[in-house]
Amino acid sequence: MIPYGRHSISEADIDAVVEVLRSGWITQGPATPRFESLVSSYCGADYGVAVSSGTAALHLACLALGLGPGDALWTSPNSFVASANCALYCGASVDFVDIDPHTYNMSVTALRTKLEQARSQGTLPKIVVPVHFAGQPCDMKEIAGLADEYGFHVIEDACHALGATYEDQQVGNCRYSDITVFSFHPVKMITTGEGGVLLTNNKDLHERAGRLHNHGIVREGLSEEGGWFYEQHELGFNYRITDIQGVLGISQLSRLNEYLSQRRELAARYNRLLEDLPLERPYQEAGRQSSWHLYVVQVPENSGWTRQSLYEELRNEGVGVNVHYIPVHTQPYYQRLGFQYGQFPLAEAYYGRALTLPLYPGLSEMQQDHVVASLEKFVGSDESTRGRRIE
Ligand SMILES: *Cc1c(COP(=O)(O)O)cnc(C)c1O
Repeated sequence: MIPYGRHSISEADIDAVVEVLRSGWITQGPATPRFESLVSSYCGADYGVAVSSGTAALHLACLALGLGPGDALWTSPNSFVASANCALYCGASVDFVDIDPHTYNMSVTALRTKLEQARSQGTLPKIVVPVHFAGQPCDMKEIAGLADEYGFHVIEDACHALGATYEDQQVGNCRYSDITVFSFHPVKMITTGEGGVLLTNNKDLHERAGRLHNHGIVREGLSEEGGWFYEQHELGFNYRITDIQGVLGISQLSRLNEYLSQRRELAARYNRLLEDLPLERPYQEAGRQSSWHLYVVQVPENSGWTRQSLYEELRNEGVGVNVHYIPVHTQPYYQRLGFQYGQFPLAEAYYGRALTLPLYPGLSEMQQDHVVASLEKFVGSDESTRGRRIE
């Protein structure tokens, strides 16, 4: 089975990890701070805190911005559940903003409408979390404009978007947000096994997140009792990453640009090869470069075959297609919180027709040709070569 995504580990990665294992530091050594500074300088942000997951980074970002009971966080329903769960960890409430039907990102028009309503009802959010879905950057300038107007904070969930650019600058520079978070789970752009990072240009947010990821403990700048001394100033967590992971991240980051160019070439090749098939290909905004974390096509409506039948047929052909995302508000847990089907119709309609094709560094052209040939077999324009029809 050709998977939809796959990490890429080199001999250099393995050597780097082994070296750390042989050294005196397997956690809290020199590799993690070095990784933090390399990621932040790659992205053009002033500060970084490497943590144990993208989810931990989202949680800390919310806490650093003071999210708590009585506050609200809004995000996109077309995301992984973690984008919303982070608010609930803080005792805040969650709501969603429907997506743009072309980019599949949070719609700025829908956001503006919802903000107007919330202002009149006194229910404005404290934080909005746009998600750069599939690696395609959101309308950050417009969202930042609304943040000024309505007084909310912005956390970019850039878990898909390491290496993507917006206005010719790296996503993660936090020009239009308070904090940006990335994930280093193996399916993401680079991996540390599990891991994530939180980037910011704000010194106070950096200090707060740094403290919270290590139990709320402070060591520096205390009246000196002795070298052992530390103080816990607030209730934090152990969200640290190990140096084993840090060094893997450093090694992976050195190949990020290579990964990006492979993904971009493969995506351009899909765009060409799928041109004549009745599938909607990913929409690309001018002035932005996706990181191509995912390549998602939309199965047309009333086409005689469904996303479900296509999913099954392709899997039978050894093509490990997947689906991103089941709208968060339709999850049983969120239904129990009171969300209902029909509340975010564009995210629901998108989900019903979405199919993620295999795309990762190391996917060969031959494998990609097999994906395309399998698709052609079922959705090709020639009636006689079409797969199982539904009606
Ligand atoms: C992967 C992902 C996360 C969570 O990251 P983890 O490192 O798996 O905790 C959050 N948001 C989005 C959009 C993701 O894709």
